[in-house]
Amino acid sequence: MNRHLRGEAGYEELRSNGIWNQLKPERYPDMIVRAENADEVAQAVREAAAAGMPVAIKGSGHNYTSTYLREGGMQLDLSGLDTIRMDGELALVGPGARSADVCSALNAEGRMFPTGHHAGVTLGGFLLGGGMGWNGEHWGQFGCFNVLALDVVLASGEQTTISADMHPDLFWAARGAGPLFCAAVTRFYLRTYPLPTAVHALRRVYPLDAAPALSAWLEGEGKNRRKDFELILMFESDPESGTLQCVVLVLYHGSDGEMALRELSAMLEAAPEGGEGPPGPIPLDYEALYAQSLTGDARRTGADTIWTDETARASDIMASHFASVPSPGTVGIVNFRARAGYLPDAACSMIGSGFLQWIGQWTDAATDAENLAWVDDLAVALEPVTKGCYVNETDILRRPDRLRRCFSDNVWKKLEKVRRDYDPEGRFPMPPPDPR
Ligand SMILES: Cc1cc2nc3c(=O)[nH]c(=O)nc-3n(C[C@H](O)[C@H](O)[C@H](O)COP(=O)(O)OP(=O)(O)OC[C@H]3O[C@@H](n4cnc5c(N)ncnc54)[C@H](O)[C@@H]3O)c2cc1C
Repeated sequence: MNRHLRGEAGYEELRSNGIWNQLKPERYPDMIVRAENADEVAQAVREAAAAGMPVAIKGSGHNYTSTYLREGGMQLDLSGLDTIRMDGELALVGPGARSADVCSALNAEGRMFPTGHHAGVTLGGFLLGGGMGWNGEHWGQFGCFNVLALDVVLASGEQTTISADMHPDLFWAARGAGPLFCAAVTRFYLRTYPLPTAVHALRRVYPLDAAPALSAWLEGEGKNRRKDFELILMFESDPESGTLQCVVLVLYHGSDGEMALRELSAMLEAAPEGGEGPPGPIPLDYEALYAQSLTGDARRTGADTIWTDETARASDIMASHFASVPSPGTVGIVNFRARAGYLPDAACSMIGSGFLQWIGQWTDAATDAENLAWVDDLAVALEPVTKGCYVNETDILRRPDRLRRCFSDNVWKKLEKVRRDYDPEGRFPMPPPDPR
């Protein structure tokens, strides 16, 4: 176990490098502890209990608002628990395993899991908050519904396994509570799927003013399509000219290449005119998909999300707001999903037929306020079509009202009870608001 006290050599490097992007909040834990295995996690939690110290757990630090970074207390870094092992079709994965590493380890065995869309995101925070990964809608709606059991360290320091049969309420919370989960996960037991062998993408670039025609078309396609086709509309600036543009991306994850080509070609024919791109669908693999990330750790970041049942209208609001985007690195993503369906009983309880995410990305610290205001203003503009938010990618620290909106009413009440039952002394407190 590796410990660094505030003020000691190496502390600031560890604190600051642990934050995935360049916007480094001024919050300083008293101590940063890096554990390498479950026994060390249990020891650290017991030491914190003996000292009456709160604990904030961290994986790769990809939470957009750094929920793991608190003033005072212990930061317990579990990014070193990164083992990946197969047991038949079950994957046993440490919370510190990166999405791309899990993906390639499983692919080598002919298997796949809906890992996060960004290579470096670790499975700990990703799965606890729900987890929207590759082909996620088809494979359980959220990654967390493929979590069959977890090894955890409880607030008391005791190590145990939780599942539908063992500590069912804590297992219920592990599937979606995100930063409100009140134990430390040291291993996930994951259901895997046969590796899709015919992944294909369709990509079309349009000018920004094509957004309303595209949203109407994609909403229609979304209602009737198969769930193994992902329909995405993105707003961004052309990397060379800086011109604002819309990008339509349709991804197929499956093994029926002929059917995919037929369906994607039909979609292309029905698409609004004026798009540019390759003449037909392109075959891809997950390595290539990970190489195309829209986000980068070299920039400063502010992000937010909504769930909606009025996806085309929400998309049009986002498109209008993009006309005033302050930084060319900023992206908006609209996911046209199939009709919002049934979710198993778990903390992960907010869903809609559309998901919108926007990520402000800039480099100049002097423009922080301007860029963050743009991110916030879009949330305000989208309010009339907002059903809820996604706990993994919503700014729950600067805008604490949004945390409550990540969960249904009943789930919120039950979460409070589970937290009282399993963490009566508040060893794992909720992330406090950040009034920046
Ligand atoms: C570039 C980028 C791309 C992303 N892509 C996706 C995506 O495709 N799909 C998606 O759903 N989300 C995505 N996210 C959001 C991401 O899933 C969440 O922010 C997630 O929390 C990050 O996981 P992490 O392990 O790095 O957690 P961290 O950021 O390190 O921690 C966040 C919180 O998770 C909890 N936590 C983490 N590990 C543990 C553990 N072992 N035990 C108990 N609690 C723990 C803690 O409460 C902590 O406050 C993305 C984020 C970024 C920055």
